[in-house]
Amino acid sequence: MSEAAVRTTCAYCGVGCGIRATVTGDRQVKIEGDPDHPANRGRLCSKGTHLGETVGLDGRLLHPMIGDKRVGWDKALDLVARRFKETIARHGPDSVAFYVSGQLLTEDYYVANKLMKGFIGSGNIDTNSRLCMSSAVAGHIRAFGEDVVPASYDDLDAADLIILVGSNTAWCHPIVYQRIMAARAERGTKLVVIDPRRTETCEDADLHLAIRPGSDVALMNGLLAHCRREGLLDEAFLTAHVATPDDFWDAIEEDSDLWSVAKTCDVAPADLKQYYDLFAANPRTVTLFSQGINQALRGTDQVNAIINLHLATGRIGKPGAAPFSITGQPNAMGGREVGGLASTLAAHMDFAPENVARVGRFWSAPAMATKPGLKAVDLFRAVGEGRIKALWVMATNPAVSMPDAGRVREALAACPFVVVSDVIADTDTGRFAHVRLPATGWAEKDGTVTNSERRISRQRGLLPAPGEARPDWWIISEVGKRMGWGSAFAYERPADIYREHARLSTYQNGGARLFDIGHHAAIGNAAYDAMEPNLWGGQPFADGGFSTPDGRARLVSVRQAKLADPLKDWPLTLNTGRYRDQWHTMTRTGLSPKLARHREEPLAEINPEDAERRGIAEGDIVRVATPQGESLFRATLSEGQRRGEMFTPIHWTDRQSSGGRTGLLPRPLTDPHSGQPGFKSTPTQVEKV
Ligand code: SF4
Repeated sequence: MSEAAVRTTCAYCGVGCGIRATVTGDRQVKIEGDPDHPANRGRLCSKGTHLGETVGLDGRLLHPMIGDKRVGWDKALDLVARRFKETIARHGPDSVAFYVSGQLLTEDYYVANKLMKGFIGSGNIDTNSRLCMSSAVAGHIRAFGEDVVPASYDDLDAADLIILVGSNTAWCHPIVYQRIMAARAERGTKLVVIDPRRTETCEDADLHLAIRPGSDVALMNGLLAHCRREGLLDEAFLTAHVATPDDFWDAIEEDSDLWSVAKTCDVAPADLKQYYDLFAANPRTVTLFSQGINQALRGTDQVNAIINLHLATGRIGKPGAAPFSITGQPNAMGGREVGGLASTLAAHMDFAPENVARVGRFWSAPAMATKPGLKAVDLFRAVGEGRIKALWVMATNPAVSMPDAGRVREALAACPFVVVSDVIADTDTGRFAHVRLPATGWAEKDGTVTNSERRISRQRGLLPAPGEARPDWWIISEVGKRMGWGSAFAYERPADIYREHARLSTYQNGGARLFDIGHHAAIGNAAYDAMEPNLWGGQPFADGGFSTPDGRARLVSVRQAKLADPLKDWPLTLNTGRYRDQWHTMTRTGLSPKLARHREEPLAEINPEDAERRGIAEGDIVRVATPQGESLFRATLSEGQRRGEMFTPIHWTDRQSSGGRTGLLPRPLTDPHSGQPGFKSTPTQVEKV
């Protein structure tokens, strides 16, 4: 390691890879993988490797702006504070909202949550993580009594069988995939991929089950019924640690014979039998799931169907055996921990009256929120209906990324006061802002992020803040001060905020669960620079029980929902997702010429038979339409698409092209438990232009 290298963490996905970054010139940074970081052990994927190409100042927002006019910080912050105060005074605290981001650092998230839930007095702070993993959160709470992830990356090394469900891990979490491949090479770990699409992740799998979209509950319940018939349940674990509802096995046994499950899931019975046999033969099983599970209209039930399997067979809390939700964003998990979701309060507490009172005392809060706020889809619906009159969007681009994004744009255009804090001057959402606030970005700011296995790592600043850009925590705190709460937001540096977060987390359950964070808070700055993994990721059951009143986990009765037949006018099913070398709406990855080479334009992947029926050939321009909107794409024919299904990528925006606008297409429908939108199964039509 060169003397000048700084240890930091990748800006992109929830794998949370460690980086050694060296400043080599004016806004030039050399990037290397950190061999000592346990998440990646020196490896980086293409996105992380090319981070150095994205730290230039082209397109940066460098000064506070009111409309198109450059102003000083005081003027911009005074205006934001005044408009929020006036709106609250006139229409109440629920007339304002924050929409934040898994790109924020934990310290930013903490301060935003504190301002909204403790001082403004509303639960209306939600995050783009709602779009990413809130069904996993809801599933964890139903099963374990808390949002705990009972797995770590080490489990991937110890597993004999890894089942990837709804995850193109090779593209979306490449370093996790490399780790799986290494375990496979060293130990012969078996790999099953469950995904309607044949993706790159399937190429080295022992088995790919291309199930019908939305049939995951039938698949998992069928396997669980098989395990019961074959005597594969862990009766001792069930007796000691799990509560089973009276109707649970009735739900599992329904239509559970091999032929019925194969028919519902539209897979060959022989393939299903192979899946059952692999599961039976390999008790050390990790089921790793991602957006194919979470971004479904029954996502929470799908999460619980997976967890049920692991609880009933005792494949949890042991090395190499766990259900493992892998997060998309670099700090979705940090947001969950500080209460960045509208449905949680802070430090994983819910809105139970004793928790509201406890957090209120801790913050000396003048106006505690007493109930959950609006979740993302409902929040933007409320903006559109005029119920939210002042909105602050931080580090995210909902005008592109929300489902039914055209409606979100109309809502933003009609909102009386929109604030956007971002690193980029011209974003699709920023075009609707009355005030734009320049934030510092990766390599300029300091703080912490929490990855999928709940390991807390540092992001460190190595470049000076450009122009007048400031950290998000500073911007939010300055608004809090100007709204009249100076002492509550008098932070001088991110470590002050982290320590307060740590103290708050030890408030819960007598301080036992978050001892790790509290410990570091107690020993000061040196520990903040060298934190150990968060212990609840590695030892979720160290106290011998789950976080339910009786200490038992819950099996949750989930039944397969009826799968809808194709609609006459919208006969295809649209699935959406990521490309390997792009990230979200391309504000950062779009700056890297090398990353653009992988996929230069957005492609609509169509099954060849569906294409032929419509006269579509490879390379044709096609119109993809849904009841919500339409956009143009170039067609590519792919046997990896099941007949009747197609796929488009999420990244492109008005700034890069006139077509490829996937966000316009999905329905704004959500899972009933989590509020997470279903992006994976929109009724669609496609035609040659
Ligand atoms: Fe960054 Fe994720 Fe790639 Fe790791 S796997 S280098 S965290 S984008």
